[in-house]
Amino acid sequence: MSGGWAGSTRRHELPDDWPERRAYVLARDEYRCRWHEDSTVCGRAATDVDHIRPGNDHRPENLQALCRDHHALKSSREGNAARWSVRMRRPAERHPGLI
Ligand SMILES: [Zn+2]
Repeated sequence: MSGGWAGSTRRHELPDDWPERRAYVLARDEYRCRWHEDSTVCGRAATDVDHIRPGNDHRPENLQALCRDHHALKSSREGNAARWSVRMRRPAERHPGLI
């Protein structure tokens, strides 16, 4: 382990043409953060492109422009959710009496 990494963020697999998709989404969303909570839209300058539903769906419909703060906020929330789903997906341990 080399260590020194801030946090333990897992990298999502990104397609080879990600830079183009990213540029497309930022332009489509007019470089503004699309984060909305209640009826308020953030609207600050967007620097990041986020997967609306986490996973490997890289279509523009599943991508949105976010400002750095909201991307970090969403990522941390998804990190918590991911830890849960990993726990839920883990196959049941074999009962020692059933070998
Ligand atoms: Zn924002």
